[in-house]
Amino acid sequence: MKIYNTLNKQKEAFNPLEENKVRMYVCGPTVYNLIHIGNARPYIIFDTVRRYFESIGYDVNYVQNFTDVDDKIIKKANEEGKTTDEVVEYYIRETLKDAHNLNVNPATHHPRVTEEMSAIINMIKALIDKGLAYEVNGTVYYNTSSFPEYGKLSKKVLEELEAGRSERIEITDEKRNHMDFVLWKPKKEGEPFWKSPWSDGRPGWHIECSAMAKKYLGDTIDIHAGGEDLVFPHHENEVAQSEGANGAPFSNYWMHNSFLNIDNKKMSKSLGNFKTLREVGDTFGYDTVRFFMLSAHYRSPLNFSGELMEAAKNGLERIKNAKTNLEFALAHTKLTERSVEETKLAQELPTFEMRFHEAMQDDFNTADAISIIFELVKFANNYAKEGASEPFIKEVYGLFIKLTDILGILYTHQNVCKDDLTDEEIKMYIEKRTTAKKAKDFKEADRIREFLKDKGVIIEDTREGVRFKRV
Ligand code: AMP
Ligand code: ZN
Repeated sequence: MKIYNTLNKQKEAFNPLEENKVRMYVCGPTVYNLIHIGNARPYIIFDTVRRYFESIGYDVNYVQNFTDVDDKIIKKANEEGKTTDEVVEYYIRETLKDAHNLNVNPATHHPRVTEEMSAIINMIKALIDKGLAYEVNGTVYYNTSSFPEYGKLSKKVLEELEAGRSERIEITDEKRNHMDFVLWKPKKEGEPFWKSPWSDGRPGWHIECSAMAKKYLGDTIDIHAGGEDLVFPHHENEVAQSEGANGAPFSNYWMHNSFLNIDNKKMSKSLGNFKTLREVGDTFGYDTVRFFMLSAHYRSPLNFSGELMEAAKNGLERIKNAKTNLEFALAHTKLTERSVEETKLAQELPTFEMRFHEAMQDDFNTADAISIIFELVKFANNYAKEGASEPFIKEVYGLFIKLTDILGILYTHQNVCKDDLTDEEIKMYIEKRTTAKKAKDFKEADRIREFLKDKGVIIEDTREGVRFKRV
């Protein structure tokens, strides 16, 4: 298994710390808004990495934090006249729904900053004791010049930094060095705060991940992951904090996904060129979003457009149809013995599987893995159809399910995003279904029935018309 390691800028053989186990940390969201489709990329990618490890027998301890204290959360709470707790609870719930809709499995642990203050404070204390951090007027800074390896992860940006040109470095008089960063800061009026030896205040952003990774995974972990914009300063600072405090290497492998772009620019909240996952998922299907993200390699930039989403939807449809066809053929075949030709054809199946694994083991090349699934679809459509024997269809079907399950691309539990539908909305969907039935588009009519069922609404066709009830 080879993984591209940002730390050494090359693909490296994966050697876990403990046999058959992976300790993996993925930076989680700051919970103050609905995620956009760019944010969905790391969710889907690293869930797939985890699924792949699990499929080959690893036990994965997958930790993803929620940043539940932050200036942006406080701002949102003030704007909406809510408490920060209310804002946080709402968006954590919605984010978990989004993840579920994308078939992203829940993490083994989802720690929250506000519940991990003692781990955070202890780590800051350790850094001060080791002379790696200093306090000025209640603020604690990391002393970057006392960590000689500072910059080892993000090499590329270091020269810029030294020239003091980075916009991402806060300049204040209190810092000894302009690259020093905040570990703890005093509260401002009306802000949430925690007691600490330095001031009533709250932690800086970076320290939370170092403290949580240590608590849930140990001093050294196997894989640390996130989007490529996190390399600097966030991950660089995590390395300095964890290695400084623990005196041990932090993460053996660093994985970073490339951006999802729109018109060849990064989709981001600040540029305002984003689409929420809800908008796109409700239009094209959440499974299409997952499939779309996996059809490119995670380290290649990926452009988003309506046409590309349509193409992804059609591609996924071909795979879904193959599943339906295989199930139909299996339910109807009466042949219990494999033919001579089928025995020969079945010998090709292990080659599909082997090539799929080769693609995935080459730094998770999901794009190639999907093209192998398409080849298997073609094979299934050609041979495992009406007239084929039960044992042969079963074998093809078994492999098809195994490979599509590793990528998590075929599932039906989605569209549980919106809160309960109003009566008006339900009537609108019923009308749409009636129109579809009149046009003999029974597939669409069934899709609407299923969609409503997912939302807890059952519809009944009666002589008087269509009735609905909530369950
Ligand atoms: P943020 O809310 O900006 O902290 O982002 C949460 C996660 O999404 C981080 O891992 C980011 O690197 C990632 N991310 C943000 N925007 C994009 C994008 N346009 N494409 C891919 N990943 C992104
Ligand atoms: Zn982090």
